Amino acid sequence: MNVVQLHDKKFTQFIPFSEIDNAIGTCAQKINAEYEGKNPVFVAVLNGSFMFAADLLKKITVECEISFVKLASYHGISSTGSVTELIGFTENVEGRHVIILEDIVDTGLTLEKVLAIFSHKNCASVKVATLLLKPEAYKKDQKIDYACMEIPNAFIVGYGLDYDGLGRNLKDIYRVI
Ligand code: IMP
Repeated sequence: MNVVQLHDKKFTQFIPFSEIDNAIGTCAQKINAEYEGKNPVFVAVLNGSFMFAADLLKKITVECEISFVKLASYHGISSTGSVTELIGFTENVEGRHVIILEDIVDTGLTLEKVLAIFSHKNCASVKVATLLLKPEAYKKDQKIDYACMEIPNAFIVGYGLDYDGLGRNLKDIYRVI
């Protein structure tokens, strides 16, 4: 299945699962080496990160926990425009080592909002692991601690990422033709 059609667009295979799996393995090794005895809390940002989170966590050998959040944007609540909140995050992470799990960091706006929320939670540390980073599109200066793979500025789907709801189930990553 080298070309798939989703809605009005065609996508061609770009990163096979074997490559994704290797990159996640390398990332997991770094995290395992750095977090021994620290019992980190992984926080996966839904929806896109569900496959990455599942495969990464299977390779994490240090004691750890995982939680999931979703972002909600509201418009018109204040004069500053949109307000972003975390849905479903009720855990107390005070004094804990948090690792945010993102599917992809594009402009970095989403990550900036997530990090702003965690900056008020008195965590012992907050780091970021993303499956994919688009360096050409990244406009922020937040440190990306673990980027499994860097990709050019193209629209991709698969392995959790979607095009208007479709494509999240694809095992490999595809790029738009
Ligand atoms: P950012 O806020 O611009 O960094 O974008 C982050 C979010 O946009 C990701 O969590 C994805 O949901 C979505 N996104 C960015 N690039 C892509 C892409 O190439 N394919 C699918 N979704 C993307």
